[in-house]
Amino acid sequence: MADTERSIFSRIIAGEIPADVVFDSDRLIAFRDIAPKARLHLLVVPKTEEYRDVAELAAGDPGLLAELVATAKHLAEEHSDGDFRLIFNTGAGAGQTVFHVHAHVLSDNGGESLREGSLAEL
Ligand code: 5GP
Repeated sequence: MADTERSIFSRIIAGEIPADVVFDSDRLIAFRDIAPKARLHLLVVPKTEEYRDVAELAAGDPGLLAELVATAKHLAEEHSDGDFRLIFNTGAGAGQTVFHVHAHVLSDNGGESLREGSLAEL
């Protein structure tokens, strides 16, 4: 695949762009978002860029989606108090900017910023 066609996340996975990686397995990687919206803001990303969004991932590989959710929970427990918001922006109109499926894991260790009213801030 030509460089221009590869997603920014594929370039992070390949080590071509630095990232603060907190988890790395055969099928998933997780790293801190470059523009965090909460005290903890991680992106959990399948290593394949075959799926553009969570709907495609759910249809094409539900087991990988389940693995992604379990990883999000594990990371929220490891890096915060275990409570987290899991967000999949799906489509440009919903704020998706990188079309390589990824979950945002937001957690604030009991803080106020993740409670009602803050959804529009992401
Ligand atoms: P989306 O808007 O597609 O749901 O989320 C894309 C996310 O990727 C954004 O929150 C953005 O801050 C993050 N992002 C974009 N480029 C980079 C990068 O080069 N490194 C990291 N760590 N995050 C990035």
